[in-house]
Amino acid sequence: MELGELTTAVERRRMARVNGSVVVHQPVTLIWAARRAIDGQPRQQRWSVVRHDLSAAICALGGGSETDVAAYPVVALRDAPFWDLDFSTEAPAAHGGAPRRWLQERDPRFGLTAEAYELLTIRQNLEKFAQVAVARLDEPQANTVLAWFDLDVPIFRGFGEVPGVPEGTTFENRRALAARQVHRANQAGITGTAANGAESIVVSGGYEDDKDEGNRIVYTGHGGRDPNSGRQVADQSFESPGNAALMTSHLSGAPVRVIRGPHPQNPHAPRQGYRYDGLFTVASWWEEVGLSGFNVCRFELLKLIPTVTDGSPTAPPTFRLPEGTLTPERKTTVALRISRRIQVSLAIKKLHDHTCQVCDTKLVIEGRGYAEGAHIRPLGSPHDGRDTPDNMLCLCPNCHVLFDNGGIQIDEDLRITSAHPHRGVQRTATGHSVSADSLAYHRRLFPGTSRPTRDEL
Ligand SMILES: [Zn+2]
Repeated sequence: MELGELTTAVERRRMARVNGSVVVHQPVTLIWAARRAIDGQPRQQRWSVVRHDLSAAICALGGGSETDVAAYPVVALRDAPFWDLDFSTEAPAAHGGAPRRWLQERDPRFGLTAEAYELLTIRQNLEKFAQVAVARLDEPQANTVLAWFDLDVPIFRGFGEVPGVPEGTTFENRRALAARQVHRANQAGITGTAANGAESIVVSGGYEDDKDEGNRIVYTGHGGRDPNSGRQVADQSFESPGNAALMTSHLSGAPVRVIRGPHPQNPHAPRQGYRYDGLFTVASWWEEVGLSGFNVCRFELLKLIPTVTDGSPTAPPTFRLPEGTLTPERKTTVALRISRRIQVSLAIKKLHDHTCQVCDTKLVIEGRGYAEGAHIRPLGSPHDGRDTPDNMLCLCPNCHVLFDNGGIQIDEDLRITSAHPHRGVQRTATGHSVSADSLAYHRRLFPGTSRPTRDEL
């Protein structure tokens, strides 16, 4: 067996879906088995020995909260050419209670085949295999899974920093930018969609109304410009795709890559070529009458500048606006980690359709939902909460403030134990399990404000 055959076999696998999205069970099980090769652990292991660890990993990475949930992927993989499950010919179908009962009775050993295991003792092969295993997950979820297994091979599907392209990287022309996925459109100044937000913009000084102050850019939207003179000859609209994308980015808080093109009058622009100048947030937007008398769409972009942390993996980086200095290496790593972190929150909000899990409110602004990703166990020292989906709730701004200040406390059964109009969490979503440990930690932070729990009565 060669690596190509192995990855093709993974690509062709049928994987369970919920609401149209592939669930983490098989990807996590595959990488768990593959890591054993590089870690020098036995190729196969008995169900009774690993059921808890593997199930816990699947749950923590968004695979629900069922006991022994690993039973499904372990059995589902029985027909894969790289999977070695004892007594596999008599294994039941991977649904209902049968897999658990069968594994319990037989206690088979399972893992990769000897050939696949051998291939994956080479780190490069393991990284390739892992990327293929998570290829059908959402980008944030895929990156969370890879990070969980200590695989620093981020995948990129459009948003945030492009892996391997640090701030300051220059490109000869627009085609080179597009080829490296830094700005995927060859002509348009804004890439992205109204549904998902803007991935990147090119600031080229083509608009007479643009204002570039370095870490703050007032960017004029798309449309209504005469390509020859560069003058505004018609009104712009927030309905047009690029402008609509930037508005979505403002509401979601997703970072936008900014690329500057050459402009003789702009001291912040490169002399030639195109330069990736980092991640910006869309701080505000408005409409105004431009210099030429036509309505233009304006976006205020502020640079996201990561500040240095102590370097420990649990210490979350923070942003400072708008100044900051860092060594380039440090900055790149931190910016990448931050853009991943924002993506976990984006995924949670999307999963809940921007509806508050506590009060079931969905705020709608210009047709777009607005919600916030609230960490349950705070990220900052000394709490050191994890930046994983199970440590996050999708909340409206009111409930977020209440939650962060102890006004909302939630027990492991998702009942609200503090004084609050709602007695329990109104919304859950398949694929988003909430960590009971995180909830317990959060309750301990505000001991004076909670009602007695069931156990204490
Ligand atoms: Zn709410």
